Amino acid sequence: MVVQKFGGTSVADPEAIQRLIHIVQTARSRDGRGPAVVVSAMSGVTDALLGIAAAAGGGRLEDALTRLDQLRERHVAAARSLAPEQAKGVLGRQIDEQFDDLVALARALAVLREVSPRTLDVVASAGEILSSRIVAAALADAGVHSEWVDARRAIITNGDHTRAVPLATETEAALRASVLAAVDAGRVPVLGGFVGSTVDGHTTTLGRGGSDYSGAIVGAGIGAREIQIWTDVDGMLTADPRVIAAPRLVPHLSFAEAAELAYFGAKVLHPSTVERNIPVRILNSRKADGTGTTITAEPPPATTPLTALACKRDVTVIDITSSRMLMAYGFLRRVFEVFERYTTAVDVVTTSEVTVSVTVDDRRHLEPIVEELSEFSQVSVDHEMALLCAVGDRLRNEPAIAARAVGVLEEVPLRMISQAASRRNITVILRQADLLHAMNRLHEEFFS
Ligand code: ASP
Ligand code: MG
Repeated sequence: MVVQKFGGTSVADPEAIQRLIHIVQTARSRDGRGPAVVVSAMSGVTDALLGIAAAAGGGRLEDALTRLDQLRERHVAAARSLAPEQAKGVLGRQIDEQFDDLVALARALAVLREVSPRTLDVVASAGEILSSRIVAAALADAGVHSEWVDARRAIITNGDHTRAVPLATETEAALRASVLAAVDAGRVPVLGGFVGSTVDGHTTTLGRGGSDYSGAIVGAGIGAREIQIWTDVDGMLTADPRVIAAPRLVPHLSFAEAAELAYFGAKVLHPSTVERNIPVRILNSRKADGTGTTITAEPPPATTPLTALACKRDVTVIDITSSRMLMAYGFLRRVFEVFERYTTAVDVVTTSEVTVSVTVDDRRHLEPIVEELSEFSQVSVDHEMALLCAVGDRLRNEPAIAARAVGVLEEVPLRMISQAASRRNITVILRQADLLHAMNRLHEEFFS
């Protein structure tokens, strides 16, 4: 049996949900049971809900209420189109109750003038609760024996609101009692991704984009044969199509390669899917007959020297130089303690005898960080840098590939070069202005 996770664009409107129904039916008749279905909120809904919470908390109640009305209308319209009878009955009432709660919450936030992470989770979770109810009803209307599963009873997390972490043992038990029980009873369980709750029943969310993560947790928890991530692209591409005009589809990828690429996108790899060796497939819900990208522990040998390129803009490089670092110990610890104090993740690190260079994405605490580092070193900061990363298992055993990659970039000034012990990844930091050129050079060399 498979787990099928559908992203926001794959449940965006009635047409998308019709495609979903077809995909679910196909899996069901092939496997004879399941699938378990995990859905994101309809596209744009989570952003809208977070905007509404911010507006209400900022005292702009009318604005929040108008936007809630629009969202209500969008969900009601989808329900009416997909499951007209239920929209007049139970489903319609559930949608109304959900929005009545949101209106009450918005009013409360406007009075309190503050939005706590716990409240934010209650607001944000509504998107997935609504979409999953509508999808479950739409499947039933199409004759699929579906069952709505409340994600808050299926994914049990710690209390770290807005970025909660699932508790393995509790979640596994909860998934058996809900999702697996439904499958065993011959039904198709449908639950919202991204959402969970604490042991005491407080609603939590897993962090933005967390539905993929939910799909992986459900797949691992019920021992699925495969986890399918249905999205609006054909699969993993050799490069970001916004950067490279015609990237190619990557047919196979190893778990290790996907982990290297995780920083740039979806967190589809929950450690337990890797541990249990459950293949993950990325598929296009608009082209259901495509082959997509399959991620497994040991994919067939790659036909290209590199597997994929990835990049990130808006990276900040911080150089920390101290002659005291020369042959001293404890310097790196002091440096990293500063970043830790300001809960700022460091992504790439390179060092020489007297300089440590690091990159960060998150500039929120840059000022105090630089100030504290300056107490014991000279610090310089460069903005508008970019990170370019080439990933491929073959880098491990074929050193010439790394040399060739750097060689291709000969005229591009590289600010940092890093290759970690995994040797599946070579990362360079360059000026953002050079990124497009560098990506194109590499893509041409390795993928055309
Ligand atoms: N709806 C959530 C978000 O937009 C989770 C997801 O779609 O993966 O972040
Ligand atoms: Mg997503």
